[in-house]
Amino acid sequence: MGKKELAALFSSDPDRYYRVSLFDKMSFSRRKCGRCEKFFWTLDSGRQFCPDHENYSFIGRPPTSKRLDYVNAWKETDKFFRANGHTIVRRYPVVCRWRDDLYFTIASIVDFQRVVGNQVVFELPANPLVVPQMCLRFNDIENVGLSGRHYTGFCMIGQTCNADAPGGYWKDRCIELDYGMLTQGLGIKPEEITFVEDVWIGAGAFGYSLEYFVRGLELGNAVFTEFEGDENNYRVMPNKIIDMGAGLERFSWITTGTPTSYDCCFGPVVDKLIDATGTDRNPELLSKYFGAVSSKLEHTGSMRELKSLIAKEMRIDGDKLAAMVTPYEAIYTVADHVRTLLFAISDGALPSNVGGGYNLRVILRRALSILERLGWKNVKVEDIADMHIDYLKQMYPELEEHQQDVRTILQLESSRYVGSRERMNSIATSLKASSKKAELSVDDLIRLYESDGITPDFLVEQGVIPGVPSTFYTKLAELHTSQSAAGAQANKPIRGLEGLPSTKLLYYEDESIREFEAKVLKVVDGKFVILDQTAFYPRGGGQEPDTGKIQGAKVVEVTKHTDVVVHKVDDNSAAKLVEGQIVHATVNARRRDLITKHHTATHVLNSASRNMLGSWVWQNSAFKEESYGRLDITHHSALSKEEVQKIEHSANRVIRGNHPVIIKTYDRGDAEQEFTFRIYQGGVVPTSNVRIVNIKGWDIEACGGTHVRTTGEIGLVKIVKSERIQDGVVRLEFVAGEAAINRMQQQESQLAAIAQALGSSREKVIESFNKAMDDAEAAKKKIRTILRVVAGAMAGNVSAQAKKLASGVRLYSTYDEELDEDYHIAIGEKAIELDPALVYVALVSKGQGIRVIVFAGEQARQKVKAGAIAKQVSGKLGGSGGGDDRFGQGGGRSKDRIKEALLLAEEAAK
Ligand SMILES: [Zn+2]
Ligand SMILES: [Zn+2]
Repeated sequence: MGKKELAALFSSDPDRYYRVSLFDKMSFSRRKCGRCEKFFWTLDSGRQFCPDHENYSFIGRPPTSKRLDYVNAWKETDKFFRANGHTIVRRYPVVCRWRDDLYFTIASIVDFQRVVGNQVVFELPANPLVVPQMCLRFNDIENVGLSGRHYTGFCMIGQTCNADAPGGYWKDRCIELDYGMLTQGLGIKPEEITFVEDVWIGAGAFGYSLEYFVRGLELGNAVFTEFEGDENNYRVMPNKIIDMGAGLERFSWITTGTPTSYDCCFGPVVDKLIDATGTDRNPELLSKYFGAVSSKLEHTGSMRELKSLIAKEMRIDGDKLAAMVTPYEAIYTVADHVRTLLFAISDGALPSNVGGGYNLRVILRRALSILERLGWKNVKVEDIADMHIDYLKQMYPELEEHQQDVRTILQLESSRYVGSRERMNSIATSLKASSKKAELSVDDLIRLYESDGITPDFLVEQGVIPGVPSTFYTKLAELHTSQSAAGAQANKPIRGLEGLPSTKLLYYEDESIREFEAKVLKVVDGKFVILDQTAFYPRGGGQEPDTGKIQGAKVVEVTKHTDVVVHKVDDNSAAKLVEGQIVHATVNARRRDLITKHHTATHVLNSASRNMLGSWVWQNSAFKEESYGRLDITHHSALSKEEVQKIEHSANRVIRGNHPVIIKTYDRGDAEQEFTFRIYQGGVVPTSNVRIVNIKGWDIEACGGTHVRTTGEIGLVKIVKSERIQDGVVRLEFVAGEAAINRMQQQESQLAAIAQALGSSREKVIESFNKAMDDAEAAKKKIRTILRVVAGAMAGNVSAQAKKLASGVRLYSTYDEELDEDYHIAIGEKAIELDPALVYVALVSKGQGIRVIVFAGEQARQKVKAGAIAKQVSGKLGGSGGGDDRFGQGGGRSKDRIKEALLLAEEAAK
């Protein structure tokens, strides 16, 4: 059964599913749409069709006396639901850190969905509640700014409750409230409101819904999630969920009746941009045009078609109309894109070439290219972000906290765009000129994007391709998902673990345990040992496993398979262990201690990096081993030496401060509310309890690893390397505790050895080194001078030893293991001066390979070319070479073919 059949099923029993008490109380009547056969509820006895077929008749004449701009529309909503017993919850981040199947929060209900095992569960911080949730969606980018109602970022008012928990209600109360919101909150007359019967199918759950419309505009959709399972096999959920989502943009628009919803929802931003760009105001024409677009878009194929249709209707020349509306479309689009970027960057996302960052870079570059195309040089995206903050801070005060971060990122990305623009243009021009443009496949487009940063939108704009292929974004996303999957170390499944009880995890009960007794439950394949309890930490969360001994058997690897910990012992020792036996086990204490120090140091460094660099810094991944640790952070640029040193200093201050590290298990919802989504540095936690590692006053993360009790135990942390490993990700490699001391001692010994070799002291080693370099340079110079002096004499010798070939050319060839290429270049050059019929070929041993030097005298050049010989000979040696007629060079690595190479040279000169 699909959506359609399900809709038919629900609508076949309206009393059970759709008839709510309000309909009876107010005498709404149920009708069947004369066009699409959908059922709807209305007070208007003349209504024959559902609102799907209706024009936006509120444009220019809104059905209410209230005029609410965006922020005021929210204030009314807040007031209404608060008065009716709802908790108003602050918005969740637009970057969806609590679900690993989503980059961005795409609907208000996502706030309250958690994945446990394979199931989606609902967790509500209050009941009932309303949240003004900013949602980001990038699937309709091409309509944004043009249609009057599409956005990449919009506010979904989420009215949510658990019907079966205290405070909850079901459909009667829900629709009564929504009706109250429209009539009292927005001041809309009851007969203007139509409810349409629909269904909603989500992941693992579904229900029926009532969408409500006013004058053709859908304002909200109340979903009654009653069933779990799929459409063919389902049951009533024990905790039914109300998920009503309404567009705040639409609440404002229906009351103002502006030509587009952008005019009322971006507050003063649109007006400011009209002024800043010197755009002509022509409200009447715009109202007419955008009113027509909003009403007709649904029923016309493309914007282009629609535009020419409207031009005809308005009896205005198409180009003239375009000239009028284009600046407005540009202003709307840019305002939308910047607002989306503002929320995303404030919530810690970075524009990049990977993952969700891709979408952000696409819209930023789109906004920049629009500003460029219209010649609006004085308009800066970071200033537009400030305008939005100025307006929205009454509703979202947190935006102001990140104002500087947002400016930093937008400026940086803008300058990068300018830098790459020229190269992008030249590539686009050559693509356009070549016959290949028609054949650009999705793979080609992905290559262009990944290697040159050229978005398909840019190619569309440049007229290289007609449109962005629909599979481009999906394919790109897939590519990046599979890359991350390949990076993760999945445990190889082990057969024979079925039916075993969960292992008791001693390393969580008491992290200090290094010796313990346990019972052997099973030995699989003679090498996998399962105990009833263990203090061995299994590989996980980027932390390497413990090693040690179980009754003398050496433990070489520890992994966790669901709830069972498996100890792999080395082959020779497995036989000692018998099922049912009580064994004594010891964990390698030194290894565990070092890994633990590296692990806690990761947390310290992560927060140090964020404090030093900016709020966009998140842990991308981490790795903790005995000898070193690795922390990948999200950051836009490679780090300077000064930045690395500052992070290091700050981290070591925290270590010296000896902050307590407090580990406690929380209910997941409580932890999220108390510590925010910052806890998910290591990714999503798929359980309903989370283990919170709290470095008091410094860093709070959900983490399952082992940790020191106070930061002082780490002793010292030293970053040994920092490197930008991909767009938007910087890797820090570091050493902590004894590993840091070892590392320093090692470096000190190296330095001492160098000093000794230079006959200097460690204090003066740089001075001595510079002097040694100068000496070496002077010696080289001297040799070159000597060579010049003796070259004449040597060259005469060469000529005398040359072999006369049939071609009249005289060939001198040699393999030299002693003298270097400088020598042969000096001699060869002189020799062909003295003997114009000479060809000089020298193969010179150099490190692992052979250098090839070829000269051809003026006379010889009429028969053979030096470059060609160098190419052939180098090829023989497994390498490559070339040059001009007079001089050629190259090289290869096949030292076993020197003889053949020399013969080949002779062959070539014949
Ligand atoms: Zn209809
Ligand atoms: Zn951790």
